[in-house]
Amino acid sequence: MAAPVPGKFQGVSTLPNIAAERLHRLASVIVQATGSGEDEAKAVADHLVVSNLTGHDSHGVGMLPDYIKNFRAGLVVPNQTLKVLRDVGAVLLLDAGRGFGQTMARDAMKLGAERAKKLGCAVVGLRNACHVGRIGFWAEQCAAEGLVSLHFVNVADHDPLQAPFGCSTARLGTNPFCVAVPGADGKPMLLLDMATSAIAFGKARVARNKGVPVPEGVLIDAEGRPTTDPTTYVDTRKGALLSFGLHKGSGLAIFCEILGAALIGGQTIAPHHVREDGIVNSMFSLLVDPAAFGDLDSMRQEVQAVIDWIKESPPAPGFDAVMMPGDPENLARVARARDGVPIDPKSLGDILAAGVSLGLAEADLRQIVEG
Ligand code: NAD
Repeated sequence: MAAPVPGKFQGVSTLPNIAAERLHRLASVIVQATGSGEDEAKAVADHLVVSNLTGHDSHGVGMLPDYIKNFRAGLVVPNQTLKVLRDVGAVLLLDAGRGFGQTMARDAMKLGAERAKKLGCAVVGLRNACHVGRIGFWAEQCAAEGLVSLHFVNVADHDPLQAPFGCSTARLGTNPFCVAVPGADGKPMLLLDMATSAIAFGKARVARNKGVPVPEGVLIDAEGRPTTDPTTYVDTRKGALLSFGLHKGSGLAIFCEILGAALIGGQTIAPHHVREDGIVNSMFSLLVDPAAFGDLDSMRQEVQAVIDWIKESPPAPGFDAVMMPGDPENLARVARARDGVPIDPKSLGDILAAGVSLGLAEADLRQIVEG
C-alpha cells in the first residue's frame, strides 16, 4: 500500500484526467441502458459529474457500479414519479418508490421551493428514494430559488457503516447533513455539506480503489480496533467509520436518522427493517424564504460580514488560508473544469464493467472516455 499523503488521502490517479463532458456522456449512456428516459439519464449524469467537479469523487461517476448492481437486483426503479402522501400547509410528504434519487430529490425540492415561496417556508419529507448523492446539490437547487435550506438524511437498506460515539460496531449509515444560505446571484454564500461519519463511505471506497490508506482516527476494524486500511471495510463492510466530532457529531448523526427517517415514516436503520443491500435515502428538508424574515439585503450583508470577519483571521500554523464551508468545492470546480477529473484505473474499470453488464460494448464506452 502506498505511503499516506497528509491531508490528501485520495492519493494520485495513474490515468490521464477525463474531461467532465466525457464523463457526463459515459454516465448518461450507462443510465439510459437501464431503461431510464433521456431526462432521467441526464439528471443522474448532471448530479454525478457535478459531484466529481466539486471534488467529491465519493459521490461522482464512481457510484455507477453500485447503481447498476442495485438496478439489476430490482432495487432501483427507473422513470419513477413522486407520490404525494400528504400535503398540508407547509408540509409535503413524498414517496419516491425507489426511483433514482437524482430525479426524485430534484422534483421534491421543486415542489418544496414552490411551497416555500408561497408560505415563507416548506417542510419536505422525502421517503424511499434511491441514493440522493451529494446533498449539497439539493441545497444549490434551493439556493438558485433564493431559499435557505437544511437537510437531514438517513441511509438505509444496507448494513450500517458508522459507529456512533462509544460503539465498537456500526449502527448507522453515514447520514449526511447539509445547510446553505443563498447569495444575490442564486449561488450559496455558504454551503456546509457533510457525512456525519468522519469521512463518507465513498471516500473509503476511493482510497481502497487507489490503494492508499484512510486518515488515522476515522476507521475501526471488525474487532473495534483503529485501522487505516480501508480494504476489508470496503470489500466486506466489516468494521465501521467513526462519527465525526466525538459525541457531538454522533448526536447529529442520530438526529439525521430521527428527522430524516423516523419522523417522516421512512425506513430507518433499525434491524426490524429488512435490508436488501440497496441504498435507500430518506431526507427531511426545511426550505425557508429569507424574505419572510424581512430585509434580504441586510441579511446578505450580515452573512458577508461574518464571512469576512472569520476569513480575516491569520491562518493557524499549517494552514495557507482560512476557508468557509463550500470554499473547497468552489475551488475544485474551477480546477477540475480546467484540468478534468482524475479517475483511478479500478474505478474506471468498474464503471465500464457496469455498462457491459447492461449489454453495452466496452469498446464503445472506452471510445466515449478516450476519444
Ligand atoms: P467533506 O469532509 O469533504 O466536507 C464537508 C464540509 O466541510 C463541506 O461543506 C466543505 O465545504 C467543508 N470543508 C472541507 N474542508 C474545509 C476546510 N479546510 N475549511 C472549511 N471548510 C471545509 O465532505 P464529506 O463529509 O466527505 O461528504 C462528502 C459528500 O458525501 C457530501 O456531499 C455529502 O452530502 C455526501 N454524502 C451523501 C450520502 C448519501 O447517502 N446520499 C451519505 C454520506 C455523505
